[in-house]
Amino acid sequence: MTDTLIPELTRAEARILDAIDEHALVSDLVTMIGIPSVTGSDAESEAQHWHARRLLALGFDVDFWKLDLGVLAAHPEFPGTEAPRVEGYGAVGVLGPGGVPALVLQGHVDVVPTGDLGNWHERNPWSGAVKDDAVHGRGACDMKAGAAANLAVARAVVASGVTLERPFALHAVISEEDGGLGAFATMLRGHRGEAAVITEPTSGNVVVANAGALTFELRVPGRAAHGSSRLAGHSALDAFLPVYAAIVELERERNAHADPLFDGNALPYPISIGTVRAGDWASSVPDLLVTHGRLGVQLDEPPTAARAALERAVAEVCERDPWLRDNPVEVAWPGGQFASGRIDSTDPLVDEVVSSIRATEGREVSLSAAPYGSDLRLYTGLGGIPTLHYGPGDVRLAHGPREQVDIAELVRTTRSLAVLAARRCGAHL
Ligand SMILES: [Zn+2]
Repeated sequence: MTDTLIPELTRAEARILDAIDEHALVSDLVTMIGIPSVTGSDAESEAQHWHARRLLALGFDVDFWKLDLGVLAAHPEFPGTEAPRVEGYGAVGVLGPGGVPALVLQGHVDVVPTGDLGNWHERNPWSGAVKDDAVHGRGACDMKAGAAANLAVARAVVASGVTLERPFALHAVISEEDGGLGAFATMLRGHRGEAAVITEPTSGNVVVANAGALTFELRVPGRAAHGSSRLAGHSALDAFLPVYAAIVELERERNAHADPLFDGNALPYPISIGTVRAGDWASSVPDLLVTHGRLGVQLDEPPTAARAALERAVAEVCERDPWLRDNPVEVAWPGGQFASGRIDSTDPLVDEVVSSIRATEGREVSLSAAPYGSDLRLYTGLGGIPTLHYGPGDVRLAHGPREQVDIAELVRTTRSLAVLAARRCGAHL
């Protein structure tokens, strides 16, 4: 019983820590990586079925339901999606007595596409290969490691034989990567908790706030002509250049006075252009440029205000430009719409997470804000659930090739989450 060396732990907490099955933790992660659950794909549903089966096998009370995509899309607060999706499932498991769960551990099962396979080890992003004390593959850190940690906590609580005074819940959701439809549906379904931890990768830190991100589309008109007499036309690409300069200036203004939680982050609210398409023939002057990007939403800024800021900047540059004045740029907001969100810094969950980490890892953590949108804003906003991020993995490896998670870090984080669950849910022998 090595855990009895940690004086802050109760016997029930130590019992749960001893019951963490590190082998099953890693093998669950490897299995999950083997399910290529790209957001919107059939495998996303497979990952949800897999989760529901796991929770049922552990004796959880499971709510597994098929999402009504039409009803969700018609809802006034629909968060938007980017991937085509023909079906989706929700999976919630609750353990313990009745009532509102004292703690929810939440994870999304969807991942982003792999990119060029040539960038992956042995051209296989779904291998779940264990090399150099790390598990590799798409989703290894974002966030199948977190989902595996959640299941490992659930398994340890059951295996330890402790009694919970208050219920513990596990939520597995789809579509985080393309807008948060799964979290949205889970909140509309009525699942709640007194507190939630989303186990997104945080590199050992506690993330108490998220910036938001709004997907936008700009349509910049031009006038077609033969390339040999291009002065007879007006290139949509040339028309875009002052618009782009205005966007860069807007980005600078919006990042000038960021919240201190972003200390060390030079650009917490990026405006990033992701795609640019113009023209359809090498020797024609392009008559249309269509660009898609993401606009960072500031903490405590309503998405409507962020949209208005970009629309105003585009309108102003159009007013100054002779071509754009008569041929204005159209701004639209298709795709994912992530508001920003944050937990009240005085909420007890913040201290409880910090003290659980101190108890198991013997270190102090700092609180920070993340520059990306996540399900956090749906849990804190629509759900009214105090929610933060604490999970295994380095977010800088997310979405890239060679994504991986360090096994020792995965185990450490799982242990802290297990102590948190024991404390919040009143585990006793
Ligand atoms: Zn994620």
